Amino acid sequence: MSYDHIEFETLAEGRVARITLNRPKARNAQNRGMLVELDDAFSRAEADDAVRVVILRGAGRSFSAGHDMGSEESLREREPGPDQHPSFSGHGGTLGVGAENRTRQEWHYYFANTRRWRNLRKITIAQVHGNVLSAGLMLAWCCDLIVAGDDVVFADVVATRLGMCGVEYFAHPWEFGPRKAKELLLTGDSLDADDAHALGMVSKVFPTAELSERTLEFATRIARVPTMAALLVKESVNQAQDAMGFSTALDGAFTLHQLNHAHWSEVTGGKMYVGTPEYGLDDWRDAPAIQRARRDVP
Ligand code: ZN
Repeated sequence: MSYDHIEFETLAEGRVARITLNRPKARNAQNRGMLVELDDAFSRAEADDAVRVVILRGAGRSFSAGHDMGSEESLREREPGPDQHPSFSGHGGTLGVGAENRTRQEWHYYFANTRRWRNLRKITIAQVHGNVLSAGLMLAWCCDLIVAGDDVVFADVVATRLGMCGVEYFAHPWEFGPRKAKELLLTGDSLDADDAHALGMVSKVFPTAELSERTLEFATRIARVPTMAALLVKESVNQAQDAMGFSTALDGAFTLHQLNHAHWSEVTGGKMYVGTPEYGLDDWRDAPAIQRARRDVP
């Protein structure tokens, strides 16, 4: 597969694969083409026995502004016609009745893919900076480690802007903690690099100008761990988290997410699958700036 929306390279004598989300003008909003290419790139890194660590980063000012809700490119990909992305003709994309199309498509392209990347047979590092919003969080959270630039902002704004209960891969309680997850979803407020580091969500914080170089050094250090030990460290922690209910909770939250879409579809007579300003939400195209969650600000 050739890539239009991402870049793939190998570094450190082939031991590190680096994937770069490459739609900087769209702040790396995730259109379907990007997600399909990303899955291919992760699989390519997984298949390569020389690769020990995979870095995922974003070109331009931000890691990722979330799912691409409305760019022309994204709309063209969805609409029937010569520019429609082939991924819409399978995985439920042609089952256009009721909630089935959306449920099957979101399960495959948003949920199951993200969980597969979480279980990739390599150590993965998300290198994040700028905005990491909503579905941008999914791409960071599915990696084993998160390294951040000092300008990073993490927020899930889908409750306050779209009337949705969170993104499809609902790792919020595990990443933020249960109460913080509720607060951040109900306010749309953000965490900065220090907040995320204090929570343990982020391992390292570097000046953004040095982020790529320092992340590569970090990746190269981790790549020294024997591959079997590295895999079993990852698997031991992931299995412990699964024993605590992580995967079961993700499955449950995905069905709640689909209930929330179905609610909006029913309320709007099938026109929209998310909430709109008519129902008291901020318009996502023109919403107030995201505020940092501070302890003294209501
Ligand atoms: Zn959704």
